[in-house]
Order: sequence, then structure tokens, then C-alpha cells
Amino acid sequence: MTDTQTAPSAGGSATAEVVEHWIDGAPAAGDSDRTGPVYDPARGVEQRRVRFASTDDVDAAVQAAARAFPGWRDTSIAKRQQVMFTFRELLAARSEELAAILTSEHGKVTSDALGEIARGLEVVELACAMPGYTKGEFSENASSGVDVYTLRQPLGVVGIISPFNFPAMVPLWFFPIAIATGNTVVLKPSEKDPSASVWLARLLQEAGLPDGVLNVVHGDKVAVDALLEHPEVRAISFVGSTPIAKYIYQHGTANGKRVQALGGAKNHMLVLPDADLDLAADAAVNAGFGSSGERCMAISVVLAVDTVADAFVDKVRERMSRLTVGDGTRGTDMGPLITREHRDKVAGYVDTARTDGATVVVDGREHEIDGEADGFWMGPTLVDKVPVSSSVYRDEIFGPVLSVVRVDGYEEALGIINDSQYGNGTAIFTNDGGAARRFQREVTVGMVGINVPIPVPVGYHSFGGWKNSLFGHAKAYGPRGFDFYTQEKAVTARWLDPSHGGINLGFPQHD
Ligand code: NAD
Repeated sequence: MTDTQTAPSAGGSATAEVVEHWIDGAPAAGDSDRTGPVYDPARGVEQRRVRFASTDDVDAAVQAAARAFPGWRDTSIAKRQQVMFTFRELLAARSEELAAILTSEHGKVTSDALGEIARGLEVVELACAMPGYTKGEFSENASSGVDVYTLRQPLGVVGIISPFNFPAMVPLWFFPIAIATGNTVVLKPSEKDPSASVWLARLLQEAGLPDGVLNVVHGDKVAVDALLEHPEVRAISFVGSTPIAKYIYQHGTANGKRVQALGGAKNHMLVLPDADLDLAADAAVNAGFGSSGERCMAISVVLAVDTVADAFVDKVRERMSRLTVGDGTRGTDMGPLITREHRDKVAGYVDTARTDGATVVVDGREHEIDGEADGFWMGPTLVDKVPVSSSVYRDEIFGPVLSVVRVDGYEEALGIINDSQYGNGTAIFTNDGGAARRFQREVTVGMVGINVPIPVPVGYHSFGGWKNSLFGHAKAYGPRGFDFYTQEKAVTARWLDPSHGGINLGFPQHD
């Protein structure tokens, strides 16, 4: 199922599977003996190890990508498009195989894993439309007998660094467009669930991608820094937490690279008194607890206007009582969290909420679990009357903890959202078109939902937040994705005719 070999485990005598790098079209052990654990979160056990690359291992991957670049850049558009189309067909046909890998290493339930793959497929389909996005512009006769036109050309080797929560979708946000536009790639996925990336690289090879065009290296800060500092790497696409995103942006740009670094989030949902409260409660539960809250577009705070807050909280609580938590292969609604450490950190926020004066309406630590006792479980949790001074409100908890903050009305809610350091996603629930229109204009957030709780744009619009949710101006995928992975060249051309004007040292002007 995964790309592994057996090797001595960190503990010594026993052997464990090891997830290898993928360099130049083949598994590679590299020269580092550092490895990290890959857990089965539904069982709470280590199921395999993953290589941690050394600087030399990253260099080997970058060199493979650099060697592959000239040939891939010069491969016709038709052929590049064909590879991407075949990849799309293979991925659609074998989604269930990939979903099983996601559930096994991340823990997300099967339906959610398939949803993640479907959103990734959207970007592969978009990448098949690459010719339309990269064909440049042409001005005939800009000056007498002179034409001016623009070309969009690939950058070279690009690095992609991705987080644990979407082990397939986030790499798929980037590499299909990077590759379709003629770049070559070194991908460093999260070390917590690394197998999906290698599976995708193998599938691309099956689709006809030449060796070296997509390479995967695993690891931690050593591998990331090696990418950020490598002179052959021209651009970095990063997705992860805000402190690391900021570091990546600063360090990458200081090394002369083009960088897009998408960071963390705390997404607010505003419920106005005229909203359809059943629709809003459904949305809050779906967006708050889907993927156990481990989504950058999860709703983690509901701003409920006082007059409807009690009714809203009752509706949410009733829906939460029907959620099932357990092993993701058993048809449950929510799976485990990614590690025991993360689970314990999330669970700790329930006590913090009480200490800070909030009301714990549902304590997820008491939820019945359909799974092994040692899994990293945390049930859905609802905390009401959360003060905005509390860390439960301020921190990105990244787990199934939904906070309700009560507000007087629209103005107070807007002020809270706009004061947040994050600006990834937000949603308003209302039947008042004027209020919704005002909200979309005034809110300082990059992606806005109107009666839609998780406003992740479709593939042909671009994804990204504002403020500390995105460093650099370039959003992911959509038109901005094509901009990011290409550089524009302007050509001014004259084909000699009898009217050329002879020597003139003045600055060129147009006649
Ligand atoms: P993370 O920041 O811990 O890790 C992201 C990547 O950075 C991983 O590949 C990791 O190996 C690497 N990394 C970790 N520590 C590093 C360090 N000190 N130096 C260099 N590299 C380092 O994030 P995570 O826990 O894997 O993912 C969850 C976070 O990602 C959340 O904050 C979530 O909001 C965010 N996220 C954001 C988006 C978005 O689109 N804005 C999407 C998905 C996830």
C-alpha cells in the first residue's frame, strides 16, 4: 500500500517499515539514519518510520529536478497536458486506494478522505487547461513594423512544503500546476503522514511523467532549510502554521526566492438574528467538527447575536449528540486526532475554557468512542460564552472545539473578526442581502462564505487568506497559481523591411 522498505527500527533489534524518499523516479534511502514515527492514530501505535532527509539528500533531489528541467520545459504543451490528463484518470479511478492511506496515517474518515481527493482532482483538471492560462499576449504593430508580445515561461526547480492535515489535497493544490507549466518539483510533505505523496509520485510516473520531474523528500526543519537555502530552488510554496509560514517567507525571500506561504487560521461564523437557524446549526456542526476540526477552513468560532444565541446553541447541541466518533473505516462521522500530544493539547482547552469563565456545554472527552482504547480520540466539544480574552478564542486549537462568542449585533461581530490576527475564511448566515453585501465588503478576510460555512473556492478561483494567514501576495491554484509558477517575458520584435531608420541613439519612442 505504501512505498516502504524494512530497516532496523530506532529502538534497535526489531525491524520496521520505513517510508523512503522518491528521487529521480525511484525510492531512495538517502545518507541520513534519522527517522521519525508514523502513527496509526485510530490505534495509537507507531505503524512505520519515515526517513528524515539530510542536506545532501535534499541536494540529490534538487539536482535530479534540475537535470530533468531542460527536457521537461522543452516538452510540448500537448505532451505535458496528456500526462496530466492521464494522471487525472488514474487518480479518479484509484481514489479509494489513496483514501485508505489517508485514513491509516491521518485518521480522517473514509468519506472525508475521498472528499479531500475530489478537491485535489479539481486542480489536476485545472492543470489540464494550462494552455489557456499561459498563452501570453500579443500587440501587433505597437510601433511601425514592431510587434510586442509576452511569453510565460517556467521558473525551474520549485519546492513545495505541506502540512499534515491534507496529505493529498495540499500537494495537489500545487504540483499539478507547477508541472503542467514546465517546472520540476521537490515536494517535502508532512513527516506525520508521508505515504500519500510518494503514492502520488508513483502514479504520475505511471501516467508518463519523466523521472526527476517530481521528487519527494521527507523530513523536518533540516530538509526544509535545505530547500530554502538551495541556490537551484527558484520558488517555495508552503502551507502550515503561522509561525512557520512567517519563517518560510522571511528566510525564502531573503535567499532570493519567490515565496507563497499560507499560514494558520481561526475562522469566524457570524449568525445574525434573521438567519435560518437550522441551516446555521447544520453548517456550524459540519464545518466545526468535519475532519475533527483539523482543517484550516474549519469554523472554530460562532459569533451569535444575543437574541438568538440560546436557540442556536440548543440546536447545535442536539445535532452534536448524534455525531459518532471512531475508526475512520467504520462509517463514523469523526476520526481521531493526528498524535497523542496534539489530542492532549486540544483536550486541555476544555479546562482552560472553564477557568476563563466560559460555559462547557458539551465536553468531548466524555464522548463514546467506536474504536480502540488507545486511539487519539477527542469528541466534539461546545463551549459557550467564551470571552475574547481567553486563549480558547485566540489560539488556533485545530481540533473539535467549537466556541460560541455572544455579540450585541453586526458591528461588534465585525470588529472582533477584523481584530483577529488571522484572515483565512469567514462566513455570515443571514437572509438579509444588504447585510451580507456589507459584510463581504468590510470584512478583512480572504475567503468569505454567505450562508456557506467552508468557502474553499473551486479550482478555477484562487485560495488564500489575508493577514497572518498568507505571507506573500500569491494565492494558491486558480489563475494566481499559474502566475506564481511562471515568469513573464516581454518581446519587442521587428522583422527587417526597407523602412528601417538607421542609427539613432535616443531612447526608443514609438512612431
Ligand atoms: P506545521 O507548520 O507544523 O508544518 C507544516 C510543514 O512545515 C511540515 O512539512 C513540517 O515538516 C514543516 N515544519 C514544521 N516545523 C518546522 C520548522 N521549525 N522549520 C521548518 N519547517 C517546519 O503545520 P501542521 O501542523 O503540519 O499543519 C497544520 C497547520 O497548517 C495549521 O496551522 C493549519 O491552519 C495550517 N494549514 C493552513 C492551510 C491554509 O491554506 N492556510 C491549509 C492547511 C493547513
